[in-house]
Amino acid sequence: MARMKTCECGCNETSKNEFLPGHDQKLRVLLEQRVGGLLALRSLIEAVQEYQSGEWTEQQLGQHVRKLFRRS
Ligand SMILES: [Zn+2]
Repeated sequence: MARMKTCECGCNETSKNEFLPGHDQKLRVLLEQRVGGLLALRSLIEAVQEYQSGEWTEQQLGQHVRKLFRRS
């Protein structure tokens, strides 16, 4: 029998895989809601990439993140 894991969506149910069927979508929706929607999620990822590539300073990243989460 395959080793059971805890579903990664946060539901605390056990699953053979990373997610129970459909729960990857549940996590996607939850993450979008936490940051304030799909566009905000894109903006967060783009900001992290700007920082990672050296275009933005840590301060710029911090300001952007605080602004994003204030709005949500
Ligand atoms: Zn789940």
